[in-house]
Amino acid sequence: MQDFKTVVVDTDFLILGGGMAACGAAVEAAHWAKQNGLKVTMVDKAAVDRSGAVAMGLSAINQYVGLKDGQNTIEDYVNYVRNDLMGVTREDLVANIARHVDSSVHLFEKWGLPIWTDENGGYVHEGRWQLMINGESYKVVVAEATKNAIGPENIYERVFITGPLMDGDRCAGAYGFSVRENTFYVFRSKATLVAMGGAVHVFKPRSSGEGQGRAWYPPWNAGASAYFTLKAGAEMTCQEVRFIPVRFKDAYGPVGAWFLLFKSRATSALGGEYMQERRPELENWLPYGHVKPVPANLRNYLMMLDVMEGKGPIYMRTEEAIKKLAEAAPDEKTYKKKMKELESEAWEDFLDMTISQAILWAATNTAPEEKSSEIAAAEPYFIGSHSGASGAWVSGPEDLAPPEYFWGYDNMSTVKGLFCAGDASGASSHKFSSGSHAEGRIAGKAAIRYIVKENVALPTISDETVEALKAETYKPIKNFADNSASTTQKDVNPNYLRPKMFMLRLQKIMDEYAGGVSAQFTTSKPMLDKGLELLTFLREDAEKLGAEDLHELMRCWENVHRMYQAEAHVRTVLFREETRWPGYYFRADYPKMDEENWHCFVNCRFDPATATWEMMKRPILHLFRPAAQAAGS
Ligand SMILES: Cc1cc2nc3c(=O)[nH]c(=O)nc-3n(C[C@H](O)[C@H](O)[C@H](O)COP(=O)(O)OP(=O)(O)OC[C@H]3O[C@@H](n4cnc5c(N)ncnc54)[C@H](O)[C@@H]3O)c2cc1C
Repeated sequence: MQDFKTVVVDTDFLILGGGMAACGAAVEAAHWAKQNGLKVTMVDKAAVDRSGAVAMGLSAINQYVGLKDGQNTIEDYVNYVRNDLMGVTREDLVANIARHVDSSVHLFEKWGLPIWTDENGGYVHEGRWQLMINGESYKVVVAEATKNAIGPENIYERVFITGPLMDGDRCAGAYGFSVRENTFYVFRSKATLVAMGGAVHVFKPRSSGEGQGRAWYPPWNAGASAYFTLKAGAEMTCQEVRFIPVRFKDAYGPVGAWFLLFKSRATSALGGEYMQERRPELENWLPYGHVKPVPANLRNYLMMLDVMEGKGPIYMRTEEAIKKLAEAAPDEKTYKKKMKELESEAWEDFLDMTISQAILWAATNTAPEEKSSEIAAAEPYFIGSHSGASGAWVSGPEDLAPPEYFWGYDNMSTVKGLFCAGDASGASSHKFSSGSHAEGRIAGKAAIRYIVKENVALPTISDETVEALKAETYKPIKNFADNSASTTQKDVNPNYLRPKMFMLRLQKIMDEYAGGVSAQFTTSKPMLDKGLELLTFLREDAEKLGAEDLHELMRCWENVHRMYQAEAHVRTVLFREETRWPGYYFRADYPKMDEENWHCFVNCRFDPATATWEMMKRPILHLFRPAAQAAGS
C-alpha cells in the first residue's frame, strides 16, 4: 500500500463544509474571531466556489421575510413553516432564522448578486417569500466573501471529512483525507461547526441505468453531516422527515417559477386538476389540510393518488400558462413580444440552476409555449434546510427558546463544542439558501462566544489515536491493495466490496423496505423490521469496502455516511406509529395522523461506544399561535 503522510492542523473554530451555512458561519465568525485573536478554518470536500446545493446557481432566493418593509412578520413565517411541516417544527429556531435572514440577502446584494427589481426599485417576488435573482454565479459571489473574510490560506479544499475527533464527551475537531494527494488530515479545534449538507442516493433513484447519478439533490452531499453528528453521540431529530420534491420528470427542473410566477396548472393526463378534484381528501389531514398554501407533502399526496389510479402522466401545463399571461397584451405585436419574453424566461429558469432540464427539453423537441411537460415525485432525500426537517437537535436562542430547548449556545448540539447549521440542524425547515446562510452566521457567532466564554483549550490527541483513525480511514485502500490480485476481474472478489455495489445494495433496501419509489412511498412495521435486518448485514460488510484509488475511497466513505443516515431514518419511521406526512411516506399499518399521541418530535441517539440506538419523544412547544388558528395565514 502507498504511504500517506499525516498533517495536523490546529485552529480555534473549525467549519466543516463550504456551502451556504458554512460560508455564513465563516463571514460572521471572522468578525468576532478577529476581535478575540482566534483562527477560523474551513474544510470542504470540493471547491467552495462551486460546492453544495447552490453550486450550479439558483433562480430564486427562497426565504426573504421583508421585515423592514413590513411585508411579513416573524410570526407569519413561523406559521407558514409549522403548517407546511404538519405541526412539527421548532418555532424558536425558525423564528431566530426568520429575524436574521433578510440581512443575509442584503449582504448577497452588497457582494454583487443581481436581485431582480421592479420599476419602483422593490424586489421582484416569485411568491410571498421568494425573490427572483440572476443566480448563475450565486455561489461564487458568496464564496468570494468567505475567502475575503477568513483568508484563502485557511480554507482546505478537496479534503473529505470522514468523522469526528472526540475529547471525552466534547467534539474537538475532525479527521479526513485529501481526495487529490496522499495526505491524512487531523483538525484539532476548540469548537466545530457541521455544515456538510444533507443526503442523496440513500434511496434508489428513478434513473437507475442510463441517467444514474442524476437526482434533484446534488450528488456530492452524501450524509456526512448525519454521520458526523451521530458518531459524535449527538441527539438527532426529525430523521423521519424526508423530502420528496415534485419536479419536471427525469431532469428535475424546478417547478417553483411555473407555479408561482407563471401561475401554471398541473393536471393529470385526462385533464383533471388533482388539487381541485381531490380537495375532499384534505379533510382527513386537519387542521393542516385547511391551511394555505396546502402543505407540500399533501400536494404531493393528491398527485400520487391520481398516479396510483392510472391517471398519469401528470403534466405541467406550460403552454396554457404562457399563453394566458401573454393574452393580457393589448395588440398582436405586444402579444408576440410578451410570448418571446416568457419563452426566454422559461428557458433561463432552467439554465440558471438545472441546465440538464434545458438539455432534456432540447432533446425531446419541447417548446414550453407549445407543449406540456411531465412532472413526477422524485425519490426521497434528506435536506433539513428545504422542506424536509432531518438534522441534529440544537439549542435555541436564549431570548426565545423555552428551557427544554435551551442549553447555552445557539445551534450547539447536545455534544459540547459541536454546532450544526443548514441541512445539519433539524426541525427548522424552509431556511433554504438564504436562511442556511443566516443560520450559519448565528452558529458561527455562538461558537466564538462559546470558545471565549468557556475558555476552551485545544485537545490533546495521542499518536495512537491518530494512527487508529488513519488506519480506519484508509482501510478500503488496504482491502483492495491486499486482495485485488487474487481474481482476474477486479469487481468480483471475495475479500472486498466496491462502493458502487455497496451503494446499490443500500438503495435497494431503502427503496423496497423503507418506502421508496418502487414501493409507492409506502412501508409498514414488518417491512421496516426486515429493512433493519438487512441494514445490519450491510453494516457488517462495510468493513470489507475496497477502494482502488482516492476517488473510490471517497465513494466508500460517502456510502458509509449514507448507511448511517438510512438507519436513523428507518428507526425513526418505525418508532412513529402514525402517518403524518402522506406524500413523503405512508405507514400502511398506521394510515392516519394521530395528534393525541404523536404531536411531538421523535429524536434518536446513536451510542458510538456500544453501537446501539435510543429513541425518544420530545415535546412540541408553541411560542406562536397554534396551527389550527393559523390556518389560512
Ligand atoms: C435542487 C435544489 C434546488 C434548490 N433551490 C433553491 C432555490 O431556488 N432557492 C433557495 O433559496 N434555496 C434552494 N435550495 C436550498 C439550498 O440550496 C439549501 O438550503 C442550502 O444550500 C443548504 O445549505 P447547507 O450549507 O446546509 O448545504 P450546502 O450548501 O449543500 O453545502 C454543503 C457543503 O458540504 C460539503 N461537504 C459535503 N460532504 C462533505 C464531506 N464529507 N467533507 C467535507 N465537505 C463536505 C459540500 O461540498 C458543500 O460545500 C435548493 C436545494 C436543492 C438541492
